[in-house]
Amino acid sequence: MSTELHTEISQAVVQRRNFAIISHPDAGKTTLTEKLLLYGGAIHEAGSVKARRAQKKATSDWMEMEQQRGISITSTVLQFVYQGFHINLLDTPGHQDFSEDTYRTLTAADNAVMLIDVAKGLEPQTKKLFEVCKMRGIPIFTFVNKLDRPGREPLNLLDEIEQELGLQTYAANWPIGMGDRFKGIYDRHQEKIHLFERSAHGSREASDTIIDIGDIRLEELLLDKDLYYELKNDIELLDGVGEEMDLAAIHNGQMTPVFFGSAMTNFGVELFLKYFLDYALKPGSYSSTEGDIPPTYPEFSGFVFKLQANMDPKHRDRVAFIRVCTGKFEKDMTVVHARTGRNIRLSRPQKLFAQERVSINNAYPGDVIGLNNPGMFAIGDTIYTGKKLEYEGIPYFSPELFASLRNPNPSKFKQFQKGVSELREEGAVQIMYSLDEAKRDPILASVGQLQLEVVQFRLQNEYGVETILEVLPYSIARWVDGGWEALEKVGRIFNTTTVKDIEERPVLLFRNEWNCQQLGTDHPGLKLSSIAPVVI
Ligand code: GDP
Repeated sequence: MSTELHTEISQAVVQRRNFAIISHPDAGKTTLTEKLLLYGGAIHEAGSVKARRAQKKATSDWMEMEQQRGISITSTVLQFVYQGFHINLLDTPGHQDFSEDTYRTLTAADNAVMLIDVAKGLEPQTKKLFEVCKMRGIPIFTFVNKLDRPGREPLNLLDEIEQELGLQTYAANWPIGMGDRFKGIYDRHQEKIHLFERSAHGSREASDTIIDIGDIRLEELLLDKDLYYELKNDIELLDGVGEEMDLAAIHNGQMTPVFFGSAMTNFGVELFLKYFLDYALKPGSYSSTEGDIPPTYPEFSGFVFKLQANMDPKHRDRVAFIRVCTGKFEKDMTVVHARTGRNIRLSRPQKLFAQERVSINNAYPGDVIGLNNPGMFAIGDTIYTGKKLEYEGIPYFSPELFASLRNPNPSKFKQFQKGVSELREEGAVQIMYSLDEAKRDPILASVGQLQLEVVQFRLQNEYGVETILEVLPYSIARWVDGGWEALEKVGRIFNTTTVKDIEERPVLLFRNEWNCQQLGTDHPGLKLSSIAPVVI
């Protein structure tokens, strides 16, 4: 490779930061995203992310079902530039469209921002998404949101993160009061106080006066003697017994720096962004059949982490979302599709900006490109130039909804089989089978309700098969480490149903958390996991 190209790629990597937000619905992800984009100058009015969404609902022909339901199935990537950094924010779908794609998106992220509502603390969806970040060992930056509203004690929240997630916490800044008494935050690194001044209706941007912690006006400015002493005490306490900041521990996902703020009033957001850019990891290596491949590896390579089908019969295209891992992507380049060994020319690449699709010419490690998919891509597929390599693949993530799928019309047998198999390959849903030979109907296993509806909808629209879905009474699936052998060793087990996944591995289905824990107590030797690797 020419030195020029090498320098170009290295520079692009140094300037890139890529992250996804992990949070529970209503914590403020949309609001925070809007504010971050404001700093990047990507959009000019707060509210336009939502406005775009609303507008899109009226005009898009992207997905018939999306229109019918008035929700967004798409997860997209927002790219913005701030202080010389190219920032890629991978959107993780939440709410009703929470699905396995939300987890898969995290496999393409180098960093995660964990967004927590100060009043609610850790919530279920955040914890589930955290598990994926933990598996990958990526850095997690915590933003505690809604400080303008009453909430839980900050120390109590740090404690919860440490106890429940096993993450060390480092309070990068500290709130001064909250709710009606919210006066600002103390930036521990700079030793400066950012004062929060509520605007007339609390709706516009809060202004941000910065003073030194030693400033004699502080007590007076806080207008509240108690808060002043509380702050002094808290700082002493944090300096005395709190963790020291350890960048290596942040980078390997053992420690999370914690920031406080209020996304709605845009307070503490820019400060957060600045520290995030200082501490976040630039695009890193990915494991492959050829070992760990650094982003500056001279050839182009990437993997498919998400496939999106257009359900409108007039535009039955599909987009494969590719995380660029190494080298430089150029429009019209020819790459090898690792699984089939076929050459493909990437002629219609798209960058995804908000919900719009824009054609692109180049992309670098840490970027995401959308490729019109001629049907050959499956989740986890690698494309590359140069020497053959294949990335590790994307695991199966724990499904929570189970339903047996029946085709009542024997003359449609073939189409049914084909549809189920193709939709599974595409990653629309997981398929499991009963061990009982008499029960041949596939069991659909999904993370969200929407996935099941999409499968039925597409089977009818694309394969002409009307199906019947019968919901099964399970909510938890666990793979067994050591497979059938390990399972046979423990003998009879109770309150669980064993099925097999598409790789013929045993999967235990439980009705509830309690039954799952009970099995762990009864058979401590049996190791279960909620994420299963793909078999290459
Ligand atoms: P998402 O579901 O995580 O995308 O959450 P949204 O960004 O849609 O926010 C959910 C609700 O919380 C909305 O009504 C927001 O206006 C509100 N919200 C978000 N951030 C803040 C904040 O900092 N303070 C207050 N008081 N409300 C907020």
